[in-house]
Amino acid sequence: MLKLPIYMDYQATTPVDKRALDAMLPYFTDKFGNAASKSHEFGWYAEKAVEMYRGKIAELIGCKTQEIVITSGATESNNLAVKGIAELFSNVKKKIITAPTEHKSVLDSCSALAKKGFEIYLLKVDKFGLIDLNELRDAIDGNTALVSIMTVNNEIGTIQPVEDIGRICKEKEVLFHTDATQAVGKLPVNVQQMNIDLMSFTAHKMYGPKGVGALYVKSKDPKVKLNPQIDGGGHENGFRSGTLNIPGIVGFGKACEIAANEMSVENEKIKKLGERFYQGLSSQLDDFFINGHPEKRFPGNLNICFKHADSGTLMMSMKEIAVSSGSACSSAAVEPSHVLKAIGLKDDELRSSIRFGIGRFSTEEEIDFAVNKVTESVKKIRSVFKQVLQH
Ligand SMILES: *Cc1c(COP(=O)(O)O)cnc(C)c1O
Repeated sequence: MLKLPIYMDYQATTPVDKRALDAMLPYFTDKFGNAASKSHEFGWYAEKAVEMYRGKIAELIGCKTQEIVITSGATESNNLAVKGIAELFSNVKKKIITAPTEHKSVLDSCSALAKKGFEIYLLKVDKFGLIDLNELRDAIDGNTALVSIMTVNNEIGTIQPVEDIGRICKEKEVLFHTDATQAVGKLPVNVQQMNIDLMSFTAHKMYGPKGVGALYVKSKDPKVKLNPQIDGGGHENGFRSGTLNIPGIVGFGKACEIAANEMSVENEKIKKLGERFYQGLSSQLDDFFINGHPEKRFPGNLNICFKHADSGTLMMSMKEIAVSSGSACSSAAVEPSHVLKAIGLKDDELRSSIRFGIGRFSTEEEIDFAVNKVTESVKKIRSVFKQVLQH
């Protein structure tokens, strides 16, 4: 039996995998110790769990255990990376290079720095959301402290050429940070191979719990330093103070282990479901197109523009499908998406775009239901629109 509503908002958050939840549960009750308590068994157990599960997080992205700094999520990781590096370099280098399609937590961190006298250089993006590597190469100068470019875009799914960006940054001896929140656990990510110095990601976008994330901080060649944004007991090698969220870390680590084992099979499934969705729509509807890159994209993210169908009206008319017209973080505001604007969508196209997310628990049955529901709703809205035009 099909259970309604259908969840198609996997880019906003994901459910916790039952296996991750089971791993977490003992750490709320029996094994409740503080990992910083060095004088008794409760603390020792907690510390052991942290090290074990931190190891699983590190393994998924190909780094050392001690290079993982635990945070409260990718928003905090992005703030720590961007502000932490900028503040450290503030007396010598004052330029940060990023792109207009980044997550708000990167863009707003940059705006805060701009007010303090930093220079923020926004690279152009093409109609697919890709940056131009030549422009990047030219933009990096002696004043540049950091390049921050996301791996996979959360609204349109476009995958940036991270490995090339990393190589350019290495050549030019400038630090490279990537917000890989929509990539880690879904696509193969290896920080060595991609020449990444700092990388943000979060548990709740990959079937782990909300409120826990990580910043990878390279420890050698170069050893990256940054200014902490939360001061206190000096936890996490001084990068981020505060008592560790042990159940969260356990759930995050378990989610990473599951992702490492199941990613390739899961991706095949998601890709097939994505194609089924798109082809289903194509066979019944016209005048729609996918926002973002046709191939260089995460297949579980389909941001679609249905011409002459207002996205707000469309979502209201298909409440059985949980989707979004932008990023969850900004959907409280009626502002059109800054990402869709940056890739050059016209005003009416901005207001007719919806993001469909496909993930671990999506089924063919759900996709087929969604195809029919979307088709019916779009046709209805368009016919009303036509009647209005005729009067
Ligand atoms: C969700 C998301 C974030 C924010 O992560 P939180 O853990 O919710 O703070 C940052 N960047 C991207 C690309 C995201 O998709």
